[in-house]
Amino acid sequence: MNKQAQANTLHCDLLVVGSGAGGLATAVTAARLGLKVVVAEKEAEFGGTTAWSGGWLWVPRNPLAIAAGIDEDPALPRQYLRSELGEDFNPALADAYLSHAPRMVDFFQRHSLLRFIDGNQIPDFHGHSAGAATGGRSVCAAPFDGRQLGAHIHQLKKPLDVISLWGMGIASGVELRHFLNASRSLTSFAYVTRRVLGYWRDCLLHGRGMRLVNGNALAAALAASALQAGVELRLSSPLRQLLREQGKVNGAVLDTPDGPLTVHCSRGVVLACGGFPHDVARKRQLLDHAPTGQEHWSAAPASNTGDGLRLGEAVGGVMGKVASPMALAPVSLAPRADGSNAHFPHLIERAKPGLIAVTANGQRFCNEADSYHDFVSALLRATPAGQQPQAWLVADHRFVRRYGLGAVKPAPVPLGRWLRNGYLQRAHTLQELARRCGIDPAALAQQVARFNQQAEAGQDSDFAKGDTPYNRVQGDKDNAWPNPCMAPLQHGPFYAVKIVPGSLGSFAGLATNASAQVLDAQQQPITGLYAVGNDMHSMMGGHYPSGGITLGPAMTFGYLAAHHAAGRQPDTTL
Ligand SMILES: Cc1cc2nc3c(=O)[nH]c(=O)nc-3n(C[C@H](O)[C@H](O)[C@H](O)COP(=O)(O)OP(=O)(O)OC[C@H]3O[C@@H](n4cnc5c(N)ncnc54)[C@H](O)[C@@H]3O)c2cc1C
Repeated sequence: MNKQAQANTLHCDLLVVGSGAGGLATAVTAARLGLKVVVAEKEAEFGGTTAWSGGWLWVPRNPLAIAAGIDEDPALPRQYLRSELGEDFNPALADAYLSHAPRMVDFFQRHSLLRFIDGNQIPDFHGHSAGAATGGRSVCAAPFDGRQLGAHIHQLKKPLDVISLWGMGIASGVELRHFLNASRSLTSFAYVTRRVLGYWRDCLLHGRGMRLVNGNALAAALAASALQAGVELRLSSPLRQLLREQGKVNGAVLDTPDGPLTVHCSRGVVLACGGFPHDVARKRQLLDHAPTGQEHWSAAPASNTGDGLRLGEAVGGVMGKVASPMALAPVSLAPRADGSNAHFPHLIERAKPGLIAVTANGQRFCNEADSYHDFVSALLRATPAGQQPQAWLVADHRFVRRYGLGAVKPAPVPLGRWLRNGYLQRAHTLQELARRCGIDPAALAQQVARFNQQAEAGQDSDFAKGDTPYNRVQGDKDNAWPNPCMAPLQHGPFYAVKIVPGSLGSFAGLATNASAQVLDAQQQPITGLYAVGNDMHSMMGGHYPSGGITLGPAMTFGYLAAHHAAGRQPDTTL
């Protein structure tokens, strides 16, 4: 082989395409099992949606819950999935997941730099479904010291700007509570001051925050573990083509800054490109609410354009069927200084007391404290055919300064910028606010009066807000009114932010078996081709039973794919 050809060719055992949780979990596992692994990432930075995420994984019977004495009957989470997924329940995938996800958590705690904290107080989304739990089924990436990445820290995708505070990620749970209470409690104020000063010190010394939390910690810990295990990480190297010989995928062509690179990989290729949240053609095909493919504003990074799915289909892979093609989330479009719009996902504040969501007719359409997926599903159902789905979150001054509203942070962070750029609407009366937003003014005033009565009584007789454990955990236990998710909207000025349909990522993906091998139209595995993360058809069948149901499967099926590629059985001792 001449020198030029050598420079354009690379040999490894396993090529992993994409550097989110799915790809990096596969890479770490495969490298720990002795394979030579290359990770190719399209962007100049690694981490994908994972680096912007909450970093939560839904893992029933995880080792942290068991250590805390929560040792539930394995039949219960299975029953929950059965009742939630209905005819989309796939026993092979569900059983593989439920038995291997706890082992995956154990594996990463023992063989990588990733550590988890428990989510033992976090309930499943649908507390009324059979088998639902009020806690013990979640873990989250523990905070991670970015210095462990060495110079690679500068290649880690930073937290999503609009959900961070000046670029600093805020950990969910206790830390977030301190930030929300900073202007009301001296302890919280001292905590926040320490955190902010530490962040600015890091920015001066390192050019970015080093105390990484949530999804940023997950991506960083996985990447540091991959590099430590000898994985080669190639940035700015999008996959362009899969290579196949005698029916087996055994290589790929990457576009690199130095030109095309052919990678030969004896154990195959793992597609982990994060699904299709920004693939206009596929959105047009699969989303009824996006007739041109543009009317869906995903919060996932723009680089997730469905490449893995298209290239997988090109070698015979087929898409699975799902109840919902997207992991839906309400999104507001928050203008940035450079003229672009951030897609702000409303995951938290909707459940706090003193907010309602209405459509243009001034009427509520759902339980605002339900999950982001349920919220948008309800909005889509409430929208008459042919109309663009949109809604407004409406709150009073007390609410906005206490909890924030979308990209608008709570006091003492100023909100003037959001009023000036039109993101936040404000008026002294509800009628005036309604006129500014294009909502029916009389109907809104009536709706608020009705809601206020219900809030005083603590009972939402229209949508049962505050009825489930999930609602209540998301609400405010220190609320002055009887229901932790409800308070009257009393004193102006009143505020509104417009909501459009968006997502945290996609659910529809390549059909696979329980080892994450991509299946062809005859349901046969395509040798050498795996799909994990959101490139893999959601094992939840397009349902959203609990938080963490994308990252948990992404890492677990990555762990299983790596074992299959290495010809090894996953540890079954746990
Ligand atoms: C704000 C927010 C919060 C969230 N919180 C949670 C949570 O707490 N728990 C949970 O379960 N889910 C959460 N999600 C969803 C979750 O983050 C995603 O489902 C998950 O990260 C997807 O992982 P992945 O590995 O499939 O893809 P990603 O993490 O998106 O990684 C895919 C990578 O592939 C790269 N890529 C794309 N095309 C190519 C190509 N041709 N060649 C090479 N590379 C390519 C992309 O650039 C990207 O870096 C959240 C999402 C958001 C937006």
